[in-house]
Amino acid sequence: MTAHLTGRSRIVGVMGDPVAHSLSPVMQNAALQKAAIDAVYVPFHVTAADLEAAIDAIRRLDLVGVNLTIPHKETALAFVDLVEDAAQLGGSINTIVNRNGRLTGYNTDGPGLLRALQQEFGWEAKGQRVLLLGAGGACRAAVVALGRAGADWIGIANRTGERAAQLAAALEPLLPQTTFAPFRLDAGLAQRLPGKVDLLINTTSVGLQQESFDLPVEQTVRPDGAVYDMVYGRQPTELVQMARRLGLQATDGLSMLAAQGELAFRLWFEQAPPAGLMKRMLMKVRSDR
Ligand code: NAP
Repeated sequence: MTAHLTGRSRIVGVMGDPVAHSLSPVMQNAALQKAAIDAVYVPFHVTAADLEAAIDAIRRLDLVGVNLTIPHKETALAFVDLVEDAAQLGGSINTIVNRNGRLTGYNTDGPGLLRALQQEFGWEAKGQRVLLLGAGGACRAAVVALGRAGADWIGIANRTGERAAQLAAALEPLLPQTTFAPFRLDAGLAQRLPGKVDLLINTTSVGLQQESFDLPVEQTVRPDGAVYDMVYGRQPTELVQMARRLGLQATDGLSMLAAQGELAFRLWFEQAPPAGLMKRMLMKVRSDR
């Protein structure tokens, strides 16, 4: 990489704690090189206590912008100058763009999910019934994107039932064309659903260690439906494997990771990244591990 740096090279990166596990530098640098953009994407290990100062450094060092990962997506909102509508609704940002010292926050996770669903399954949200497992930041961003894209019914099922209820109550008035239903995520969930869903999305961290849910997928998802797992690892997660055994379309979160990265690249450099390259890089890293 360094051989390509010049006196005019720009810097973009990712702030997180931890950050060393991030796959974003691999895919973003591949795209920058291929697009012949004189910039480099670097990981910044930033603790919660240092976040405000680190974001101010984006202005002072004239960085192009950054991605934000765990645990900064929610807190960073307070430290930028402007927040795009959907990110405001979702209460979190994963991308900052520096335009002449003015920082704007965006969330490309939600739109990245929609793009991944389109690419993987040819799936469009309009009129669909979706069940999300989880109620954290990733779930909220997904719900906002699905609701804005016209999903008809959104169920939110979380281990801590009150969090699901709070999230549904907070978003229902803001997304009036969608009906919301909160649930506790437990073994009896399928019986409490008002019918099967078109799409099941895991937005929890369950699956990272190949653990699985006590959830009968065949009683939850329509036979022509699909399962999307935001978690990704070396192998398809248990949930993805289970869904595939049932003949459902199913895939893991690698495609969303690539898609949110492509959208961030567009925001920073005002051009599309080389088509499909980020996903190919991620698949290569996965197979090399
Ligand atoms: P978060 O805000 O910490 O929320 C975590 C959620 O997982 C909560 O709903 C929590 O339930 C649930 N959970 C944790 N352990 C559980 C267990 N053992 N059983 C059932 N539920 C459990 O995290 P987040 O930012 O939303 O991220 C969630 C996941 O999405 C992470 O794995 C992250 O890597 C992934 N993600 C992927 C992408 C991508 O591009 N593919 C993008 C964003 C996030 P409680 O409320 O009960 O604690």
